[in-house]
Amino acid sequence: MKNLKKILALTLAILFVFSLAACGKSNSLTVTEGKLTMATNASFPPYEYYDGDNIVGIDAEIAGLIADKLGLELEIADVEFDSIIPGVQAGKYDMGMAGMTVTDERKEKVNFSDSYAKGVQVVIVKADSAITSIDDLEGKKIGVQQATTGDIYASDDYGEENVTKYANGNLAVEGLKNDKVDCVIIDNEPAKAYVKANEGLKILDTSYADEDYAISFNKDNTELQEKVNAALKELIADGSVAKIVNKYIPAE
Ligand code: GLN
Repeated sequence: MKNLKKILALTLAILFVFSLAACGKSNSLTVTEGKLTMATNASFPPYEYYDGDNIVGIDAEIAGLIADKLGLELEIADVEFDSIIPGVQAGKYDMGMAGMTVTDERKEKVNFSDSYAKGVQVVIVKADSAITSIDDLEGKKIGVQQATTGDIYASDDYGEENVTKYANGNLAVEGLKNDKVDCVIIDNEPAKAYVKANEGLKILDTSYADEDYAISFNKDNTELQEKVNAALKELIADGSVAKIVNKYIPAE
């Protein structure tokens, strides 16, 4: 009898914890009090990076205009790239916007907006590197940003044991400068920004993969996804997105 009571108490306690967890989840899926929270990794110029204490860049500005259209205040959380999707899935952030490539694997976890930009994976090497094309990458030490498409492709094509995963692009480029790796595979625009900011680096002519960037949402929050997507469509149609892109990526 005593045991039965104990079991009953325990069962009730477990049910209570589960119901709390369930409540927390559904509550956090709606946009909280006039805010649009965007998770990003602000080490990815010109899409997101720090200017003093502020996160600026193409994604930050487009998100700002989207928030304006929805009458919300944009709040940007700077987290590691591989925390963005889990955070969006958990309802911790309303959306992820981080020069994020649409992939089939990610589509199983989150929903994506329409694409607003194109990316290309490229290879950064030291200016005097023996690596002159992607055909030379076999057996070389490759630096990537953890959990990015650069990481996924490099690990698949050249073996996990040859790939060093850094928390962000800055650290990967530091690794290359300090000869910890022989090259860095990363998106083309950040690559250009890193090469510009660091002497003695160059980008190989042959590129690695073409991609589409989009905003990610919790699969249960299709209402927000639709609203943001409608705002994005308008901003693309009226030239606002192109204007922002041209400001950060001047035509060559
Ligand atoms: N486009 C790449 C990806 O989605 C890298 C994005 C990033 O590092 N911010 O995986």
